[in-house]
Amino acid sequence: MEQEFVKALPILHHLMKAGHQAYFVGGAVRDSYMKRKIGDVDIATSASPNEVERLFKRTVDVGKEHGTVIVLWEDETYEVTTFRAESEYKDYRRPEAVRFITSLSEDLKRRDLTINAMAMSAEGELLDYFGGAHDIGQKLIRTVGNPEDRFREDALRMMRAVRFMSQLGFLLEKETREAVIKDRELLAHVSVERKTVEFEKLMQGASSQEAIQTMVQTGLIQELPGLSGYEQQMLEASGFPFSSLDAREERWAALLLFLGLCPKSAEAFLKQWKLPGKVIKKAVQIISVYPAQLEAEAMYRAGEALFSAVKIGMLKKHKTIDEQKLKEVQSLYDQLPIKSLRDLDISGADLMKLRNRRAGKWVAEELRRIEEAVLAGKLPNRKHDIKEWLASWDQH
Ligand code: ATP
Ligand code: MG
Repeated sequence: MEQEFVKALPILHHLMKAGHQAYFVGGAVRDSYMKRKIGDVDIATSASPNEVERLFKRTVDVGKEHGTVIVLWEDETYEVTTFRAESEYKDYRRPEAVRFITSLSEDLKRRDLTINAMAMSAEGELLDYFGGAHDIGQKLIRTVGNPEDRFREDALRMMRAVRFMSQLGFLLEKETREAVIKDRELLAHVSVERKTVEFEKLMQGASSQEAIQTMVQTGLIQELPGLSGYEQQMLEASGFPFSSLDAREERWAALLLFLGLCPKSAEAFLKQWKLPGKVIKKAVQIISVYPAQLEAEAMYRAGEALFSAVKIGMLKKHKTIDEQKLKEVQSLYDQLPIKSLRDLDISGADLMKLRNRRAGKWVAEELRRIEEAVLAGKLPNRKHDIKEWLASWDQH
């Protein structure tokens, strides 16, 4: 048993001593079986949420009505979820109400994919009622039970299936794939926020190429914000190694470049995905300075977006980031005499005093002329030199 599980064992033991069943479930069990790095360790139990709260000193209610209580244990947090069945699905979305039950296998049955429906006992025994281990061996993504039924219950599962393809490098099992093709339109009922979570995870996966191609081939792409009609562009984008970029705004910017959107349409596109304003702004900034120019003024105007644009350019051409070249760009950038208007050794107030004139458009214009001269290396960034330069300039 991995360290991550050992650390959480006291929680299982505590629940069991109180007469309840308790198991590790979900992604961590899958990742441990695959010998991948383990993410959050989740726990499922027959104890009711109120009982879980009663049994542990430090808990956070993050959705007791859905069965989940967070337990703080040592320096970690664990989601402890009561066994549940989700019977009444409405409008192809996750149900509002859930039914708490006492059977582990029933709880595992409502999970999306066989690989996500395994549990591990406190003794380290794998409980695999739906062939998850078999599918891991075959590298297959398969729903628990009939895929059409499961996608009708919650259409997001189609996207999750493709997202796990990307993360794990698996293929869709035949029936699961056919059901995606048949039911893809149901994805229209799912909220944008949930789609965005899955799509961002898909972009970060090592096998995003196959996943994006599957999105196009199954028609799922048509149900994603702003992507309907962009099948060809998405196929081209599929070859891009999105996971080589660290920041989400960089990955979105790369996607925007393949879609060929101008900054204004790019902004509207990202708004459709309901991304945070900050992410939208940064992504649009990156495509506005793409392809990166390495002249002083261009680097200055680009600011931090310069490096993102350089990295995307390298990945588009060579599929890898040339760290040495990136360092060279960094040193060119570091050599800029100023990085922003604030670095100029003269301010608007200085200019107003110098000219004995009131504020107006002229201040910005004059600052801009100074900025240009400093960046072009024609003028040292020193108050004294700038003043002299302004005086000589007045004589012309
Ligand atoms: P990750 O490493 O990305 O967190 P994960 O497997 O933990 O992967 P989560 O989205 O955190 O995925 O979900 C935790 C578990 O809850 C899943 O492993 C799965 O068993 C179940 N699950 C999540 N979403 C759904 C869904 N839409 N339908 C059914 N079961 C789901
Ligand atoms: Mg998880």
